[in-house]
Amino acid sequence: MTSRVLVLNAGSSSLKYSLLDGVSGAAEASGSVERIGEERGTLVHSVGGHHHTEERRVADFEDALRSALRAFERHGPSIDESTLAAVGHRVVHGGDLFAEPVRVDDRLLDTIDDLIPLAPLHNPANVEGLRVAMRLFPGVPQVAVFDTAFHQTMPEHAYTYAVPLTWRTEHRIRRYGFHGTSYAYVSRHAAELLGRAVEDTNLVVLHLGNGASAAAIRGGRSIDTSMGLTPLEGLVMGTRSGDLDPAVHAHLHRELGWSIDEIDRALNRESGLRGLSGANDFREVTRRRAAGDTDASLAFDVYAYRVRKYVGAYYAVLGELHAVVFTGGIGQHSAELRAAALGGLSMLGIDLDPDRNDASGAQARVVSPDGAQVAVLVVPTNEEWEIARQALGVVDG
Ligand code: ADP
Repeated sequence: MTSRVLVLNAGSSSLKYSLLDGVSGAAEASGSVERIGEERGTLVHSVGGHHHTEERRVADFEDALRSALRAFERHGPSIDESTLAAVGHRVVHGGDLFAEPVRVDDRLLDTIDDLIPLAPLHNPANVEGLRVAMRLFPGVPQVAVFDTAFHQTMPEHAYTYAVPLTWRTEHRIRRYGFHGTSYAYVSRHAAELLGRAVEDTNLVVLHLGNGASAAAIRGGRSIDTSMGLTPLEGLVMGTRSGDLDPAVHAHLHRELGWSIDEIDRALNRESGLRGLSGANDFREVTRRRAAGDTDASLAFDVYAYRVRKYVGAYYAVLGELHAVVFTGGIGQHSAELRAAALGGLSMLGIDLDPDRNDASGAQARVVSPDGAQVAVLVVPTNEEWEIARQALGVVDG
């Protein structure tokens, strides 16, 4: 029985794919098709350390997936239907309907379609990716893995917003949380690194990438997370504001006459690190900060302060904490950020070992001193492997 899985991540104008073994995590090839629907699209197919690039118009998702399949034919490896155990799809929003990954058929596709109002920016592309893959791989099980599913274990008091009843019941307004596949992967590997059973491990996990969120995880189950109805809430991100007084919308509308869509766009695309410093890439922010740029310096400080606040809040939520875990491009690579976010917390049992923190590495590692009350870990995430693993779990029953 093969354990080979094709993982697809269909975004608003891009399709990322990777072919890997769901058991070992070994990747055979990966690639992306960008700027779908625009004048000029780009396909990059990476295999065996070589990157094959092609530039041409890519009309839609079907064209994108067909282009990817042609790249597999041309540059390898071969992905005949019979060699695939499953196609695993990242789906952003599963609402409160999906707490587990599911095998998708036409009926289920309609259910995922019904969730589009909750994630108008993400779910339409995810659904289209599923439809196209079902057409092009009719004989292969298609499995949807939801970003929200991991957080369906949150208790009612954590996911409920203090808003009127009809908002919560008829309009499904509540905290859902995202980055679920990353949290599932990272919490298992963090427990392994600590030498503890995941069921007996309490973690604050900080997923700091272009999008960023924090989660309080007790015994391998999410009990709170910083993203809410949408991925806008919580930490400062590359281009998203994170937490904000909800009255800012009304204020901007009254004062500037901005429409809701304009405000939504500005908070999702023009805020966060970009709004504060002009740069949305954290490496660029740290470079400018080191060169004395005061905007970049403020951006760094606001970012680190927000992370620190969530660590404190989730420590209190968990009561007992075994480790703070950093992942995502920023969490994995920025020793400066880890130091700024966790400095001066010795009274809480949280300490960094400066040499361990400064050392770089691609492996999961401990960056706190030996014997620390609360360990601090860096655990590189692998969402593709987690999607492949979960897809195999569904297929194997
Ligand atoms: P995505 O959320 O798109 O998967 P990543 O997890 O790759 O993104 O994180 C991207 C972020 O990580 C960017 O802001 C990037 O600048 C930051 N980053 C990557 N490498 C470093 C580094 N060496 N130091 C600081 N930040 C880094």
